[in-house]
Amino acid sequence: MNLILLGPPGAGKGTQAEGIAKKRGLIQLSTGDMLRQAVKAGTPVGQEASVIMEAGGLVPDHVVIKIIAERIALPDCAEGFILDGFPRTLKQAAALDELLTSQGKKIDAVIELKVNDAALIDRISGRYVCANCGASYHDTSCKPKVEGVCDRCGGKDFIRRPDDNPETVKNRLMAYYRETAPLIGYYFAKGKLHSVDGMAPIADVAAQVDGVLNTLAAP
Ligand code: ADP
Ligand code: ADP
Ligand code: ZN
Repeated sequence: MNLILLGPPGAGKGTQAEGIAKKRGLIQLSTGDMLRQAVKAGTPVGQEASVIMEAGGLVPDHVVIKIIAERIALPDCAEGFILDGFPRTLKQAAALDELLTSQGKKIDAVIELKVNDAALIDRISGRYVCANCGASYHDTSCKPKVEGVCDRCGGKDFIRRPDDNPETVKNRLMAYYRETAPLIGYYFAKGKLHSVDGMAPIADVAAQVDGVLNTLAAP
């Protein structure tokens, strides 16, 4: 099963993608995580991306399309993947369609997480991530099971993302409404869109997503 998680910054895409990946044995592909790794490693892509990411803009289409094309072609994606943060523009969506068709694959469903702006700002301002593995936590809504220890990797260092500040968040939200929101219509027209209430608590959102995926799996 190949899925796309669609939603504004802070909607919970990463949180839900991790749960679905674990439960269904799918590979989670987050372009944000991949770009942050490139920035950390100081690669040419990372150097180009870091200034754009800190300003809250979108990295050029050809850069992220190349990253995803190379990643999806790897054998571990054959059993299915979840795209988290890609595509973010109509151009990326069209390139993805072409890429998948050429590999005899397709997108089975696009899950849209609907969350209002005030909640997004709250989620992003309270977000902190594991410095080692990137797992997301929140000051009030999603703390690690053991205070100060990452659930996923046992890491003890946590950081706030440099782009999770009020000024950059405004730009990221504008980029979402301008460039990414049109994808809702694009996938609706293809009959692939499933919208869920992303305002609910994490477990309830996961249950809604699960319901959608179960209907897909049914004959
Ligand atoms: P969030 O889900 O909180 O918006 P991400 O981790 O998905 O954050 O992305 C962080 C930043 O990485 C984005 O603001 C953007 O600069 C860049 N980025 C990630 N994915 C893409 C993409 N598909 N196209 C262009 N830029 C991207
Ligand atoms: P995205 O990948 O869409 O940017 P994240 O999954 O990183 O979003 O979630 C953003 C922040 O909101 C994180 O701090 C996360 O712990 C928190 N969060 C995620 N889903 C929910 C939810 N349903 N209710 C409350 N907080 C949430
Ligand atoms: Zn961790």
